[in-house]
Amino acid sequence: MPIGSLPAHHVGCPCCGLSLSIPTLTPGESALCPRCKQHLVRIETHPLDTPTAYAIASLIIMAIVYTQLYMSIDLFGIHVELTIPYMVATLAQQDYSLLAEIMFFLTFGSPVLFLLLCLYVYTGLRYQQVLPGMLYATRTLVRLRHWIMVDVFYIATLVSYIKISGMAQIHFGLAFWFMMVLAILLIRTSQGVPEHWIFYQIQRLTGNDPILQTHSAHTINCNYCLFKQSDTQNVCNVCGSYLSQRKPLSLSISMAFLLAAIIFYIPANLLPMMITRSPGTNLASTILDGIEYMWNDGDVLIAVVIFSASMAIPVLKILSMLILLYSATYRPLMSARKLTVLYRITESIGRWSMIDIFVVIILMSAFSSPLAQVTPGSATIYFCAVVILTMISALSFDPRLIWDEVKQHPSHHKSSTKRHSS
Ligand SMILES: [Zn+2]
Ligand SMILES: [Zn+2]
Repeated sequence: MPIGSLPAHHVGCPCCGLSLSIPTLTPGESALCPRCKQHLVRIETHPLDTPTAYAIASLIIMAIVYTQLYMSIDLFGIHVELTIPYMVATLAQQDYSLLAEIMFFLTFGSPVLFLLLCLYVYTGLRYQQVLPGMLYATRTLVRLRHWIMVDVFYIATLVSYIKISGMAQIHFGLAFWFMMVLAILLIRTSQGVPEHWIFYQIQRLTGNDPILQTHSAHTINCNYCLFKQSDTQNVCNVCGSYLSQRKPLSLSISMAFLLAAIIFYIPANLLPMMITRSPGTNLASTILDGIEYMWNDGDVLIAVVIFSASMAIPVLKILSMLILLYSATYRPLMSARKLTVLYRITESIGRWSMIDIFVVIILMSAFSSPLAQVTPGSATIYFCAVVILTMISALSFDPRLIWDEVKQHPSHHKSSTKRHSS
């Protein structure tokens, strides 16, 4: 069997709960749940080299993005040079330290931590050494994946560009072009680190074979590493997570975060999102005002982008979470398959709502002279809270609850496997 293969074994699908048997997977192959089409595991053709190479390349490009010029703006004879650290510093200096921390974490902290943890885990796997905290590092990097928003920030820059270009001259620096590359590399790196496979490899190094542990009569599937464990234990022997049939209190926790998001959504829309000052004017605009100005100014494209990100996505996300929670608690409002699609869309689009916040931050850094000044309004904090709370609500929801009504055939199903080109 080639190095990096995964022997045949049983898993529980993390999305629909179906018991599945996965045949031996060799590098370059992936397994898919036949019922809900969830990716179970995808092994790279070069399972150790590819993720390591992408992670190192991403770190080098990050160094360029966070030290070089991002964009320069000429307005009323004033020349402003923006770098990403300068934007974070401007926010912090003007007493928007919470916004500064959020921006710092989403565009710098989470990707750096994610890449360093990837390199740490893969170094251990490459040299066949169990490094301290390897399991914890793997669990953390899996969680961090949702909070990397370099791509969202990049799109926000393009929206800001259209907005500023009407009144000022903009030149993009090296960091801007490299950020596009970084966004793509980060997505590729996070696709290349299959946690199920990593947990198996770590256990193999410690001398335990997680596949041999499945003989107990009463088993439970770990939510995180997917391996079967005896239902008498509380903690998974493979990945160290707490074991449970379904995420404990998933519906209540998800509902609590959703309710908090709904409450914060009201001030997020009523309070000003952005305050624009120039000699003689002092304009506080809410999200809706902003969209209206842009629409009337003829910036239809930005109006549509901001409307989708700031109004449509949060409302649709709240509605679909309500549908999912109602379906899981009382009776399904649509088929399990459709609910699963709804859940996947809800889980993946939420982060794009941060576009508007990033646009306000970029505009603030661009317009900081007394002749034209932009500052974030009080709605920005509430809006950030809505985005983060709805994301946590979706992540706390256990999608297997949707499928629990559907009868499961007692025998094991076979996963679909395919080779991918990489
Ligand atoms: Zn499934
Ligand atoms: Zn586990």
